[in-house]
Amino acid sequence: MAETNVLVRKLKLCVIDEDENVRKEKYKFIRDAQYRQYQLLNRYMSYLTSEFYQSEMDLKSERYKEAYKLSTKDFIFEHNIEYGKGVDTKSLVRRKVQDDFSIAIKNGFMKGERSINNYKRDFPLMTNGRALKFEYDEENNITIKWVNKIRFKVILSANKKNVNTELAHTLHKIINGEYKLGQSSLYFDKSNNLMLNLSIHFPKKEKAPYIEGRTLGIDLGMKIPAYASVSDKSYIRSKFGDVLELTKAKEQFKARRTRLQQQLRNVKGGKGKKKKLKAFESLSDKERRFTQNYNHQISRRIVDFAKENQCEYINMEYLEGSSFTDKKMLGTWTYYELQQYIKYKAEMEGIKVRFVNPAYTSQTCSKCGYVDSENRLEQEKFVCKKCGNSLNADYNASINIANSTDFIIGKKKNNKKKKVA
Ligand SMILES: [Zn+2]
Repeated sequence: MAETNVLVRKLKLCVIDEDENVRKEKYKFIRDAQYRQYQLLNRYMSYLTSEFYQSEMDLKSERYKEAYKLSTKDFIFEHNIEYGKGVDTKSLVRRKVQDDFSIAIKNGFMKGERSINNYKRDFPLMTNGRALKFEYDEENNITIKWVNKIRFKVILSANKKNVNTELAHTLHKIINGEYKLGQSSLYFDKSNNLMLNLSIHFPKKEKAPYIEGRTLGIDLGMKIPAYASVSDKSYIRSKFGDVLELTKAKEQFKARRTRLQQQLRNVKGGKGKKKKLKAFESLSDKERRFTQNYNHQISRRIVDFAKENQCEYINMEYLEGSSFTDKKMLGTWTYYELQQYIKYKAEMEGIKVRFVNPAYTSQTCSKCGYVDSENRLEQEKFVCKKCGNSLNADYNASINIANSTDFIIGKKKNNKKKKVA
């Protein structure tokens, strides 16, 4: 088998069926199967643990080996659990518990440094990838055929404007067979939405040769959407995108919107009003598509640049809270979306993406390391108070980002760090 990479994507689903009662039954089927899996997980884990103790914690003893063998052949403790039809709960639970058990042993369970897994009631319902058949319906919605004649519709977004095109693109590749599916799981989130943790296997690309540790630093700015430079050879740099271009497009959209608004005010209602409202909506769609497209292009070029210059990593600023809105520019065009696109495309190329603390990246001299808020005289130029180093401010920041080791991992919701610009 060719080597593969694995991506995990979360999908929101709903059960398709015209009959409301049947639909309810199907949701219930999922919940029941999830409950049975939960029972079985805990029973099997208890069984293994108790057999382990009774064999004097000797994994190599005949007694334990015999008990283990018995459990892999058939569950002797599962007599009154009924499984959901078609859900491969037995073999999935067997593998899961055996894996967890051996991990617990490895991590010090025998020494009493770890207690055994206790599976929670809401443990996601595991399903084999091959039980999920992705396809398009007549209206081009993405649907999934699952076991027991259950069909899901994939909800790509709450409204058409925000369709995650990156995700749609990935799902398309599942439908046309380019990507395979691994073991996935279903669960209900806090708002009771049915969710699918989908694990996607895609062929590993010939990994582009990279220079160990080499990093492309990306500064997202107001004048230049993205400025990138290479950590160990900062003269390798490039600008991506053009704010003037964006501003111009944005103004055109605004002018058209204003025109439509005036026309709307002049129509009294009825058909004419409906028509205008529709035009208004489709204009927003167009604008949304324009910005998405723009972000796709820039992110593609940035990742290609990282590849050409043999970067192992891409560093970007971790944007959140107030710095997030500060960096939001030109309405719907957000840095956040651009970052997501870069991350996704880089991952596909085997380039690792890291997020760094954005504090001081724009006030630090990339040459001597001197930090001073006075360092920055104007928006576009950086002049160091100490060594006199003078260069484009975004370029300076991108060098700092490329060389930063102040990584921020995961989402810290309560992190109040603010970008000092
Ligand atoms: Zn300096």
